[in-house]
Amino acid sequence: MSDPKNIGRMSRRSVIWMAGAGTLIATIAPGLFKTEPAYAGEAISNITPDAALKKLMRGNQRYIDQKRTFPDQSRSRISEVAKGQHPFATILACSDSRVTPEIIFDQGLGDLFDIRVAGNFLDDGVLGNMEYAALELGVPLLVILGHERCGAVKAALDGKPVPGHIGTLVTAIKPAVDATKGQPGDAWDNAVRANVKMNVNKLKSASPILAEAVKAGKLKVVGGRYDLDSGKVEIIA
Ligand SMILES: [Zn+2]
Repeated sequence: MSDPKNIGRMSRRSVIWMAGAGTLIATIAPGLFKTEPAYAGEAISNITPDAALKKLMRGNQRYIDQKRTFPDQSRSRISEVAKGQHPFATILACSDSRVTPEIIFDQGLGDLFDIRVAGNFLDDGVLGNMEYAALELGVPLLVILGHERCGAVKAALDGKPVPGHIGTLVTAIKPAVDATKGQPGDAWDNAVRANVKMNVNKLKSASPILAEAVKAGKLKVVGGRYDLDSGKVEIIA
């Protein structure tokens, strides 16, 4: 925290609630990601975590109703975001080609900070992405988004040997399968929902930085499930 140049790269509010974690600022801020000085978080300073969630869900409703407005995709938006980014939500979504955040939430350039991993689970790299979005960009909302009939969850459910590095995904999702074993209803969907909830819960212990942001009211963390049939995102955690 001793180098003023580093502090200048953070949003003011990030610095305030990060006062107790100065070494992390010094680690993340200088040059690891090229962000325009003094932009970070400023543009979203007027949007609360709750307002961000409402904005996101309104976009999903437009998508469901087939009344999309395709916001923030104009030539002027390209120029605007070239100067710096101020996304209002971080989305950890499955890599599944049918769950593209900008499409299902009807958003545009610079609106969403996307992290995509098959099975939408946390690991160190994902946590690093999330912490960067919250600390450096001041993003007020974080959504962990699972989806109906997730192939990665199915692989964990089947428990069959898988080639190459796919086993990494299976291992990460297996706790959700184990936790829902024997439960009534659809085993696949039960595991999808449990996987979202378990990762939302895990976030709090896995990242003290994000937990502190939540405690300070600067960040809201929710879990969602995307319905492939209806297009609806349901908040489940
Ligand atoms: Zn999936």
